[in-house]
Amino acid sequence: MALPADYHMHTPLCRHAVGEPTELAAHAERVGLTEIGFSEHNPMVRDDWDEWHMLQADFDLYLDKVEKARREHPNLTIKLALEMDFIPGQEDWIRQLAARHPWDYLIGAVHYVSDSWDLDNPKRISEWKTRDPFHVWTTYFERLTMAAESGFFQIIAHPDLCKKFCFYPKEDCTPLFKRFLTAMKRHGLAMELNTAGLRKDCREIYPSPRLVQMAAEMEVPITFASDAHAPAEVGANFTEALTLARNAGYTHYCRFTQRQREMVKL
Ligand SMILES: [Zn+2]
Ligand SMILES: [Zn+2]
Repeated sequence: MALPADYHMHTPLCRHAVGEPTELAAHAERVGLTEIGFSEHNPMVRDDWDEWHMLQADFDLYLDKVEKARREHPNLTIKLALEMDFIPGQEDWIRQLAARHPWDYLIGAVHYVSDSWDLDNPKRISEWKTRDPFHVWTTYFERLTMAAESGFFQIIAHPDLCKKFCFYPKEDCTPLFKRFLTAMKRHGLAMELNTAGLRKDCREIYPSPRLVQMAAEMEVPITFASDAHAPAEVGANFTEALTLARNAGYTHYCRFTQRQREMVKL
């Protein structure tokens, strides 16, 4: 059974991942993938924004490293992308980065629910204890919906990342999910099935089976993502992700070439 493309992986340039792109590519071939895509955390508007994004000066180095992986793995299709933080007010910066290279796709992600809080950062987990989870989830999904509507991205990353540390709201989140998926459908974006959630406290693929089911019913297309931060994580748990997709009724996933979408049979 052919594995779908793994469209989300990182490099040491983000300062919290290990393994050169060519090493991740080698692992991809070992586990039987035929297509992967690098999606490093974008350089931020200021390098001192935080300590986990790629630095502005490393931009060309990123392109070179991926080029090297392509040279050394000619039988593997390797796409080039960015995982871009969507932060309201920073649209001009996102536009500049988007124009800087003929990216195969751009993944929109929300980690920041305010300029100072990245909700998935283990060093900032204490913030969760001072807040109402429903309020955080609402802000998170509002931003994710804005990212989908922004027109910059082809894919939205790890749609319920806010569950990472298991701060679940008691309230019904269906309206939040619905608004997000409606925007995804209207703007023609694909949603990631991201297996990194299985390696976190929540022990569940991003997004949850319920969200995947709703997305399938609304015919929102999907991509697959390991969110690898190390070579051994490339393609991790793709069998589970495939089962999740098929159980929800998905028959196809998306590939992208210079931001043009193509549907591939699962
Ligand atoms: Zn990361
Ligand atoms: Zn991310």
